[in-house]
Amino acid sequence: MEGRSSRVQPEYGRMGNPTVSAVERRLAALEGAERAVLFSSGMAAITTLFMKILAQGDHLILTNDCYKKTRLFAEYMDKYGVETSIVEPGLDAVIAAIRPTTKFIFTEIPTNPYLRIPDMIRMVEEAKKRNILTIADSTFATPVNFRPLDIGVDIVVHSATKYLGGHNDLLAGVLAGSNKIMKPVADLLEMMGAITDPNTAFLLDRGLKTLGIRVERHNSNGLLAAEFLESHPSIEKVFYPGLPSHPDHELAKSLMDGYGGVVTFLIKGGLKETLDFIDRAKIPYLSPSLGGVESIIDPVAPMSFWKMDRADREKLGMTDNLIRLATGIEDPEDIIADLKQAL
Ligand code: PLP
Repeated sequence: MEGRSSRVQPEYGRMGNPTVSAVERRLAALEGAERAVLFSSGMAAITTLFMKILAQGDHLILTNDCYKKTRLFAEYMDKYGVETSIVEPGLDAVIAAIRPTTKFIFTEIPTNPYLRIPDMIRMVEEAKKRNILTIADSTFATPVNFRPLDIGVDIVVHSATKYLGGHNDLLAGVLAGSNKIMKPVADLLEMMGAITDPNTAFLLDRGLKTLGIRVERHNSNGLLAAEFLESHPSIEKVFYPGLPSHPDHELAKSLMDGYGGVVTFLIKGGLKETLDFIDRAKIPYLSPSLGGVESIIDPVAPMSFWKMDRADREKLGMTDNLIRLATGIEDPEDIIADLKQAL
């Protein structure tokens, strides 16, 4: 009897499944990893990883422009005697936060919603010098646009719910890295139980077959939408790493093979103008998740930060006129025509 990722039939479903193992091998190949492990969601991957790596007295560094549940879970680790520093994605801020007890640096690349591109090569160099692990949540990039392990990152994380699945019909998470790191994580997964069921793995596998061409279209639609929005008089500012106006454009050019489908922007006006614009847009769905074939759009502050006071969310940069458009794979002319009429 063998456990996960073995080609021998596992003794029990929580310990592995042939369909799940086949998808794990495909994901490992995509990331250039020795091993990938599938989880029931992106958050299951992140929480299981944190529980495995961290122990009482440890410290972790998280870059701040990130999925809010990742941030909440990092802070939750306080309960187990783990300290968390949440810092800007810039290298100086990350280095300044390092302590003798720092176990890992966790960053999204690109970050969400401002699409910052951390200087991963130098971050990895600094971390390695100090024996600190680096973890990259590369959900927005996908392995088509960026492969963190190629530049020495230790662990890559994905919410496979997004681009890897690609059709908004599954929840799954992935961790990929060396056998040495992944084996104990997979062993903990067997105990914690946040496994992927075979049908979800099948859907994910089917999604992966078109990942390359889907992401190519997300990239070109994202860039086109960003350029159009930046040129429009009703738009205050656009954040897209493929635009020369983005603070990390040069880093994005050097690290990434594409800039992705997500475009974040500020419309001129307040909540009313934001919601009116979103109501007028006919193509994108109003939805919090992204990475599927259909475009989605969301007013970030009321959609994701509604529990927070306006003053607190504005401190995080979540103003009422902030909009996140995740372009799908629709006809580019249709996307631009729709944005034009809605503006
Ligand atoms: N990482 C990023 C960058 C995300 O955007 C999300 C979800 O939105 C997650 C992780 C969590 O993934 P899941 O929703 O699959 O649990």
